[in-house]
Amino acid sequence: MARYVGAIDQGTTSTRFMIFDRSGTEIGRHQLEHRQIQPRSGWVEHDPMEIWENTLKTIGVALADTGLAPADLAAIGITNQRETVVLWDRSTGAPVAPAIVWQDTRTDYLLHDIDADLVRSRTGLPPATYFSATKIQWLLDEVDGLRARAENGEILFGTIDSWLIWNLTGGRHLTDVTNASRTMLMDLSSLDWSPELLAMFRIPRAMLPEIRSSAEVYGTAETVLPGVPIAAAIGDQQAALFGQTCFEPGEAKCTYGTGGFLLMNTGTTPVRSSHGLITTVGYRFGAERPVFALEGSIAACGSAIQWLRDQLGVLDTAGDSEILAGQVEDSAGVCFVPAFSGLFAPYWRPDARAAIVGLSRFHTSAHITRAALEAICHQTRDVVEAMAQDSGTVLDCLQVDGGVTANALCMQLQADILGVPVSRPAVAETTALGAAYAAGLAVGFWDSLDDLRANRHEDRRWQPSWSAARRTEGITRWRAAIDRTLDWVSVG
Ligand code: ADP
Repeated sequence: MARYVGAIDQGTTSTRFMIFDRSGTEIGRHQLEHRQIQPRSGWVEHDPMEIWENTLKTIGVALADTGLAPADLAAIGITNQRETVVLWDRSTGAPVAPAIVWQDTRTDYLLHDIDADLVRSRTGLPPATYFSATKIQWLLDEVDGLRARAENGEILFGTIDSWLIWNLTGGRHLTDVTNASRTMLMDLSSLDWSPELLAMFRIPRAMLPEIRSSAEVYGTAETVLPGVPIAAAIGDQQAALFGQTCFEPGEAKCTYGTGGFLLMNTGTTPVRSSHGLITTVGYRFGAERPVFALEGSIAACGSAIQWLRDQLGVLDTAGDSEILAGQVEDSAGVCFVPAFSGLFAPYWRPDARAAIVGLSRFHTSAHITRAALEAICHQTRDVVEAMAQDSGTVLDCLQVDGGVTANALCMQLQADILGVPVSRPAVAETTALGAAYAAGLAVGFWDSLDDLRANRHEDRRWQPSWSAARRTEGITRWRAAIDRTLDWVSVG
């Protein structure tokens, strides 16, 4: 009787394999980084073979370290960096080009010719280079002979989930609905590829994977885990929503990593945003109705702390930000807007650039660092407010995860600036846990969502302590600072 479930967490910078028991407790893990290939300004690539080989290695080492055999795993789930594009040869399985990563902006010129209203109405997404469609289009245009081969059915497209499933199963071409919803090619109403969008982006239907639910047995692994069912695929932010057990409409989580991603469960009807959020699929179990989410993506979150450490040199470690910012009572009127590559949700202003405003001779690196922590919280509050306006649901607690949540001062500021409690779970790896949960549910390892809810234990909760007047004053200053960052560079 298998006692564990495994999860492949294939992220932007690394791949990890994690093993969980029935209580959701981690039993073992192994993690490997892969190369970030940046051949030109604005280009970001990964080597699909390196990602696949790292996946095999992390599984092998995690099993060896824990002394487990494949038969000890009831199933594995896959969670992955979203939107990143891999194209490969159907007959040899070899990639035909490097993977183009979600952060890559080489395709911005392709956005000028598209019908933005059609994209929004079909996909729930604002047209952006961030999503997969223009990256596929670019490869078909730029790699010699590729378009003809794709039209003949010789070339396959997949996001990273598809690429891993293809390799694990020895040739099944599938994706899940959460990943498909980020391609800018899937119709949110039919949950299938949109013929109009395929025509507009000139992408042959023959190269696209079949869209399946997020939790069902897609096949069994052949190579490293012979016989183990592959029973879930779910995009990383949706997996974190699931791992945080946000199963009810109105429940939300925020992941504070390099960027920040706030997702709110909106139930079985998609909510269209008129406040700068993305409508996306949260998850779908087998033949059940899909659960939708509203998403606010924040471009710079923990990266603001990395910048203070690596570029300004005022911190030795990211953790030092808590000590330095804790040396002052407040930021004394300083605001730091970390719009290093423009502003994402809810503003979507590529013309913005970062600014630190309100400085006098009195201010120190402690004030600036505190302002960086406040900025992380204000950006999140902006997204929470947009969610409330779009969904009509006011949050009563924010579930948090990700690297920045190690910073207790930042989390206290988050509760103060939001005016609602902030709760951090005992298992920090909510993304991998979410994929394991989805796979375990699909094979009956867990019986119900209630089993999973019972596994969620709070590690720490921060209560808001500011007066409404103090909160309002901070928000007003933040908005004024945002205004000063706009129209700084010309784009397009
Ligand atoms: P990702 O999955 O995007 O790589 P992680 O969840 O691993 O991100 O978080 C890494 C980010 O968290 C980095 O940007 C780092 O600067 C930030 N970070 C880590 N520890 C702290 C801390 N104690 N205080 C503030 N930021 C932190």
